[in-house]
Formats: sequence, structure tokens, C-alpha cells
Amino acid sequence: MQGIYLHIPFCRQACRYCDFFFSVSLRYVDDYVENLIREIELIAGQRRRTEVETLYLGGGTPSVLSDQHLEKIVEAVHKHYTFREGAEWTIECNPDDLSPVYLKQLRNKGFNRISIGIQSFHEKDLELMRRSHTSIQAEQSVRDAAAGGFENITMDLIYGIPGQSLREWEDNIEKALALPVSHISAYHLTFEPGTVFDHWRKKGRLLPVHEEESVSQFRLLRERLPDRGFDHYEISNFALQGNMSAHNLLYWSGKSYTGFGPSAHSYDGTDRSWNVSSLKKYMEGISAGAGFNETEILSHQERYHDYLITSLRTRWGADPEFISQQFGDEIFRHFDMESKPFLEEGTLWTIDGKVAIHPDRWLLTDHILRELF
Ligand code: SF4
Repeated sequence: MQGIYLHIPFCRQACRYCDFFFSVSLRYVDDYVENLIREIELIAGQRRRTEVETLYLGGGTPSVLSDQHLEKIVEAVHKHYTFREGAEWTIECNPDDLSPVYLKQLRNKGFNRISIGIQSFHEKDLELMRRSHTSIQAEQSVRDAAAGGFENITMDLIYGIPGQSLREWEDNIEKALALPVSHISAYHLTFEPGTVFDHWRKKGRLLPVHEEESVSQFRLLRERLPDRGFDHYEISNFALQGNMSAHNLLYWSGKSYTGFGPSAHSYDGTDRSWNVSSLKKYMEGISAGAGFNETEILSHQERYHDYLITSLRTRWGADPEFISQQFGDEIFRHFDMESKPFLEEGTLWTIDGKVAIHPDRWLLTDHILRELF
């Protein structure tokens, strides 16, 4: 196993666009941490022990955890797993949680990479999305993280926000680039079923941005970030040299990982498993020692789909030789035939023997994947 993901399913308030699994009731945090540790004990005994390359605390909002909570979790992780030297330890945080004292505690626990959910530096966007922080806190948190000893800082930004002009998006990019970050993740806003934004869109209260606007905003990203040394290595991710997300690279290169906490997924190279997406059922299952997760053995075709979904998100793309070796002749011939028209029109291109989506066409990824399946 090469990566560990710990899901912290709590947030101070619900952002209007978000469909992740989380609860805004913080009264279960103490119990939850005990259950998470119990799951680590249960699972660690069942799996082969190898050196772990990455640890990732995601959510939800892991920075709602206190220093004492983190102490307990980190202790359990160290007790059951061995990390390779220099392993990447990432924690997702919201700007309003990052006091200098808390940042110091995170460094002392061993976190060497911090992911800050900024989303926008414009107050009107933050209010529309119902983020829990202000634009001033957003900027200050990045500066404080750097002053607190974090050299590897990544921030999340969102574009395609209704009402956001190209000029405002440009301003967000420039503000991000003026801060000491080594990595930027920029996601296009999506209207996920069940979210407030989706409800407002159906009622006509919120209009998605026009496709041309999305393309212009994406182009601006692709112009500005590489200009300042950021490698556009995945649809939504840009990194200065040596600062790609090691944890996400595990996902995108089909390596194994174990996820803990409700809704967390695991993959061991052949089997995929996932925990229930319910805090109550998860805690009951952990107490009973069973019934909190499900496993499926992936067919050749499912593994091929997973491989395409992950590899074609990256700039190095899918390896035809790997497809032939891993998934057999029939799937290889299908891939070869379906990719041809895209290669001819330039949507796909070949780099070092691999087939990749041309970065200018990354916004078409879903359409291309449908055809290749
Ligand atoms: S976007 Fe992040 S902080 Fe907001 S509700 Fe979703 S998980 Fe919580």
C-alpha cells in the first residue's frame, strides 16, 4: 500500500456548491476520532504492510480538528504504518482555521504540505458560495503558512462562478501568483445534484456561465500559470518544479491506497472498496468490527475505464503498451480504433509513445472518455 487517505467529514458550514460527504454538526468529532483510530487498527492488521509514500487528510475540513485530535490520529498512523523518508503529508485546511499557533502545531505533527481552500479572493464570490472565510483571511492564511514553515503550499481556486467576469478571474489568478504557493488546483464550478446551487439553477435563480466564458477562463489559466513556471500537469493542477501532488499522482497512476473514514475509497491493484457514506452507520460498523465497507473485484473492462479516466487527466496520458499488456488484445484494439479520429483531428496527441489529450482540449475530457469507452 502506497498512500493513506483519512476523511474528516466535518465542516463549520455547508458551502452551496459542495456535494462531498460531511456534517456541520461538530458534536460528534471526539467520537469520530476514536472510531477513525479503531478503523486504522482494524484495517492495518488485515493488509500487507509496506512503506507508505503519502498521507492525506481530506474532507470535509480537517482543520476543524484540534491539536489533541491530530495528536491521537498521527500517533495511531505511526503505530501501524512505516513511512518512507520524506513522505508527503498533506492536510486540507480552510483559511479561517489557520492561526499561526495552529500552523505550528501542524508542522510539529509532521505535515509538510498544506492545501488551503481559497476558491476566490472576491468577497461577492465567497458570499455567493457561502464560504466560511473572507478574502483578507484567504490571503493572510497563505502568508502565515509560509511564515510558519510550510514550503509546499497549494491552494484551491474555482472558476466558472456565476457572475464572475473574466477580469475578476484574472485578478484571482494574479493574486494567487503573488502569494508564496508552489501548487495551484483550479476547478470549474459544477452544479452537483442535491446542492443549493443546483436547486437555484433549476429555479432560474442562478445561471451557469456561458461555455465560451468557461473556455476563456481556462485559457487564461493556461497562459498565466505556465508563464510563471507552473507546469500544467493535470486538467486542474499546476505545480512549480518538484511540487506535483505525490498523493494524487498515486491515484492517477493506478497505485494502491487505503482510505479511512466514511465515504473513503481504497484500491489494492485489483479490488476496490469503499466505506459507507453515513456517519452513523460508519460508527456503528466500526464498533461492531464489520459492516462499514463494501468491496468489489474489478473486471478487465472496469480497470481499463479507471485507467483511462485517471491517465487521460494527466499531460503524459495513457500508455498503449500498458493497455495491451494489462487488459488484453480486444480492449487494446478498441482503444486503438476509437482514439484514431481524435488523433487525426488533434484532440489527442502522442508524446513519448503515450496517447494524451491535448491540453487545449482538456475541457472536452468527458466527451472523449465516453467515446473511448
Ligand atoms: S467545499 Fe469544503 S468546506 Fe465547503 S462544505 Fe464542501 S467540504 Fe466543507
